[in-house]
Amino acid sequence: MATATTRWCVHHPQRAAFALCMTCTRTICQECATQWDGIYHCAPCLAKQRTGVVARSPVGGWLALVIVTAILLFMTARLMLWSGALIAGLF
Ligand SMILES: [Zn+2]
Ligand SMILES: [Zn+2]
Repeated sequence: MATATTRWCVHHPQRAAFALCMTCTRTICQECATQWDGIYHCAPCLAKQRTGVVARSPVGGWLALVIVTAILLFMTARLMLWSGALIAGLF
């Protein structure tokens, strides 16, 4: 059962594992491993992390939160106005 203890690169089955990707926990060889922020990543995970950083900028997140809050406030105001008019019409 030598295969149970010996790990191989997921991209290169003939190459022994050099590092472990901290994102997908797959074993990767020296060529596939890229050290970033002090930990090793495989190529697909590194690409995903890089695009994720670009897509999720803090400014965009705050802007989305402000827009959602504004919509909720607007809807609540409309609902209150509507129920107020209904009550005023009934009594
Ligand atoms: Zn990975
Ligand atoms: Zn490899």
